Amino acid sequence: MSAETTSAETTKSETTKPLLSGGCQCGAIRFAITAAPLKVSICHCRMCQKASGAPFASFADIARENFSWTRGTPAAFRSSSIAMRDFCASCGTPLSFRRIDGPSIEIMTGTFDHPDRMIPTRQYGTESRLGWVVGIANLPSQTTLQNYGSEKLGGIVSHQHPDHD
Ligand SMILES: [Zn+2]
Ligand SMILES: [Zn+2]
Repeated sequence: MSAETTSAETTKSETTKPLLSGGCQCGAIRFAITAAPLKVSICHCRMCQKASGAPFASFADIARENFSWTRGTPAAFRSSSIAMRDFCASCGTPLSFRRIDGPSIEIMTGTFDHPDRMIPTRQYGTESRLGWVVGIANLPSQTTLQNYGSEKLGGIVSHQHPDHD
């Protein structure tokens, strides 16, 4: 590698702006990514159901060199002999799945400030997929405003960190 290339790479890493950011519900933990995910997927496996507290989990797989925690340090649970799952110790938000010493980290897509930009292209763990999941688009639907009404909704004080740093 030439000195010129090394210099260019140094400049790039110094000036690279986060592509996307995110964090936990309380804001104690924040992260940023500097490149697009390697892949975005859903996992229905029983461990992801339990770890997310939800019917399934969705993950954006980010190469380690393109990921950093920018505020706080998450707690972690070693969910198996090969993997850790990071979460916020203050508010409990599940944040990641990662292979121990693996080259990437899978971030739960709901924790991004713009989760709409994380569109899954695969699903895994389908042996545990709950039968009703494929039909949710057909359930009767309401927005939060329709559900609460403007007066009640207007009186609720959110303690959730805003969707930006
Ligand atoms: Zn938190
Ligand atoms: Zn899983």
